[in-house]
Amino acid sequence: MKLYNLKDSNEEVNFLNAIQHGLGKKQGLFFPKYLPKFNSHDLKKLISMDFITRSTHILSHFISDEISLNDLKKQIQSAFSFTQPIIAPVTKNISCLELFHGPTLAFKDFGARFMATMLSYWKNENSIMTILTATSGDTGAAVAHAFYCMHNIRVVILYPKGRISALQEKLFCTLGKNIHTIAVDGSFDDCQYLVKKSFNDTKLKNKIGLNSANSINISRLLAQICYYFEAFALIPPQYHNDIIISVPCGNFGNLTAGFIAKSLGLPIKSFIAATNANDTVPRFLKTGIWNPHNTISTISNAMDISQPNNWPRVEELFKRKKWNLQNLTSKSISDAKTIRTLQELHKIGYISEPHAAIAYRALKKNIQKTDFGLFLGTAHPAKFQDTIEKVLNIKLNLPNSLQSRVHLKNFSHQMKPNFLNLKNFLLTQI
Ligand SMILES: *Cc1c(COP(=O)(O)O)cnc(C)c1O
Repeated sequence: MKLYNLKDSNEEVNFLNAIQHGLGKKQGLFFPKYLPKFNSHDLKKLISMDFITRSTHILSHFISDEISLNDLKKQIQSAFSFTQPIIAPVTKNISCLELFHGPTLAFKDFGARFMATMLSYWKNENSIMTILTATSGDTGAAVAHAFYCMHNIRVVILYPKGRISALQEKLFCTLGKNIHTIAVDGSFDDCQYLVKKSFNDTKLKNKIGLNSANSINISRLLAQICYYFEAFALIPPQYHNDIIISVPCGNFGNLTAGFIAKSLGLPIKSFIAATNANDTVPRFLKTGIWNPHNTISTISNAMDISQPNNWPRVEELFKRKKWNLQNLTSKSISDAKTIRTLQELHKIGYISEPHAAIAYRALKKNIQKTDFGLFLGTAHPAKFQDTIEKVLNIKLNLPNSLQSRVHLKNFSHQMKPNFLNLKNFLLTQI
């Protein structure tokens, strides 16, 4: 599989290089040079397969020149073995695609686990690798658990202090061993800036074998394509031409994967890009001006991002497919509306959480009677226990994967958002 750098198309790499380096020169994102296209006959065949077999087939179209079909299937089996996406009906024509039944209760398990298995499959036994990643909440947990105890792979996770939920923090800051966590005195964008700065330091990068597990890493996006196909296979065929999918967006990786799935021939009628008050993209689509504001803290904290990393990939894909960005519906939903939506959903018998509720709100506003609406359930409500219990006035049971970590010690280090501090940490804490 050949990928090119969006900031310098002369730089071309294969899949192995792309997942090992994360970003290319000038911090450019990698994007597949060739996008396969399934016709209706292929699609029919794909739909009849089980999740693992189908995912193997889809991904083999991208990377079969670098790994045998048999080996790829084994890796996918081990990455996706935990649990599969579920469609939960919510209203007459709206359902939730629940992607949060994995080990860290968020959709990010799919991407993080696929990335970890592929990296360890190719990893040279003796070389050291440092996974440096910034998290606005759920990436940290997914990445930490995916790489936990992997030999010669060290994980360093930065997160904005006090801006992720207490349970989110418990989930990944209590592991220890090869997982190092740092609470940064700043916003998620500050964390992301520190990660970028580290990657820019070539000497540092080579010395510690720096790699990123953010959704800038193409392997995460490829893994996510698979559950859009699974959703399609789960939806009754009479609705196959009327599917609208609403995606709660932060870094826009999930939406990018959805559009790649569509470009492969999955006939999704339309996507909705739903954001919280961090509305850089909806404003951009309205005004044509890219003008990120300062990041605002909201109750959907995993989406508190004002400079979405994956947006250049969306633009590139639209350019290549000659799609019109003006056809993309994008809505920003306030915290007040999110809370009302959570209560409305609870009344009709569905307990959700802030991120999915935003997607539901945006979908509800933009759906027609004949459509089959799907909003993505990106995290388990229990991860946002405090908010949910308060706004719904209920008591939530914690799933075992969370309950078992509540009383464990938090191993996090504290740091000001200063690159030299981080560099020093990376060079000494091996
Ligand atoms: C990460 C995350 C998002 C945003 O996904 P992106 O791919 O960054 O757009 C939405 N909801 C939850 C719960 C998340 O953890």
